[in-house]
Amino acid sequence: MRYVSTRGGAAAAGFSDILLGGLMEDGGLAVPEAYPQIADAELAAWRRYSYRELACEIMRRYADDIPPADLERIVDRTYTAAVFRSDEITPVRPLERGVYILGLSHGPTLAFKDIAMQLLGNLFEHALAKSGAELNILGATSGDTGPAAEYAMRGKRGIRVFMLSPHQKMSPFQTAQMFSLQDANIFNIAIRGVFDDCQDIVKSVSNDLQFKARHRIGTVNSINWARVMAQVVYYFKAYLAVTASNGQQVSFAVPTGNFGNICAGHIARCMGLPVRKLILATNENDVLDQFFRTGIYRVRPPQQVTQTSSPSMDISNASNLERFVYDLVGRDAALVKRLWQQLDSEGAFDLSRTPYFSRIADFGFVSGSSSHANRLDTIRRVYRDRGQIIDTHTADGVKVGLEHREEGVPLVCLETALPVKFAAAIREALGRDPEVPPGFENLERLPQRFTVLDPDVAAVKDFIVRNSG
Ligand SMILES: *Cc1c(COP(=O)(O)O)cnc(C)c1O
Repeated sequence: MRYVSTRGGAAAAGFSDILLGGLMEDGGLAVPEAYPQIADAELAAWRRYSYRELACEIMRRYADDIPPADLERIVDRTYTAAVFRSDEITPVRPLERGVYILGLSHGPTLAFKDIAMQLLGNLFEHALAKSGAELNILGATSGDTGPAAEYAMRGKRGIRVFMLSPHQKMSPFQTAQMFSLQDANIFNIAIRGVFDDCQDIVKSVSNDLQFKARHRIGTVNSINWARVMAQVVYYFKAYLAVTASNGQQVSFAVPTGNFGNICAGHIARCMGLPVRKLILATNENDVLDQFFRTGIYRVRPPQQVTQTSSPSMDISNASNLERFVYDLVGRDAALVKRLWQQLDSEGAFDLSRTPYFSRIADFGFVSGSSSHANRLDTIRRVYRDRGQIIDTHTADGVKVGLEHREEGVPLVCLETALPVKFAAAIREALGRDPEVPPGFENLERLPQRFTVLDPDVAAVKDFIVRNSG
């Protein structure tokens, strides 16, 4: 499998070449030159497979330069009942007739990002052990990527993590998850700004190729291809869990921020999984909902990002969207390059009067948005009717998912975090605290370790230089 850039200006590379990098040399994102196709008979055979077997089958098609036995070992070590609390890894549970919740948040940090990040930690370790090299991971988080990355990389030899987060804008639980880690290879940097400031710093450091090479900078943001690949697996797992035969279609509702999770759903569909609709749910920061409804993608300056009660979706510029647009425009890299140049210079591009706009529906995408009131209502209704507590992000997905539900088509709503991470909103909705899973009781009282910096690329580079060997 070769990987090409969405902007057409980088040499094709293998999986291991793009594993540790962020953006391609031309500023584009790595995409497989073609999506492997899964035949009907194969999909039927996969019905008997465990999560680990399914993961191996899917990943060996993308990571074909890792020896199969090594990949199997990495997968077996990653997706264990000890780490994800059951052998199912991503259990599906019914919500109401024809509607299911896909539990993606049973990993160490209680959000779906663990599923990809735990794999990434083991893939990185494997790659570095072969070369003997070191790696400085630079990441940006709005709250869940950071903890997931740090728990996946803590104590790993040859790896340091520099994680940028918006100062005082994460929930107390998320903050405590990251800042309480005392491992010497973990550096928490709180940026005086919003998530987009953090993401912009990561992008500009990654674009400084000399600095990146000299200091062995790698990224773990959702633009990392291996993360998207890891997430493809649970779309297959969930599909197989709620259907009896491949003749059936399933729709997925996905709480969306950076477009990583739903991009994996898009790829699963392109591989031949019978997905009817990919229902994209945003919160008040609805640039993606606008794009999918109108064909106009208009990013917002960081100051215009609204802080919401589903903070992991507080994003004004969704970096993974470029992968989907590349497919939408028939893999015309020159056009993608022009569109993103326009996005840089004018803050928007418009596909509404092009033939591509109507193709959005051909790819199964529909969208909607959810407000604070909507998510509290949804949390209350699910609690009252089903006795289940769902988190605020999942509630956005359920709200929009139900609006697009169709008779006879199972709807799978992705549970992207557990409610304990966003306790204040749960208290507001239900007048009670969410359950605290075992092992997390004391988290917010542990001592915290972090550095506060201005949103300044030079200051962050300087910090990295001073703290890496
Ligand atoms: C990261 C995150 C999202 C958004 O996922 P993307 O892949 O960025 O679209 C949604 N919900 C939660 C809880 C998250 O942590």
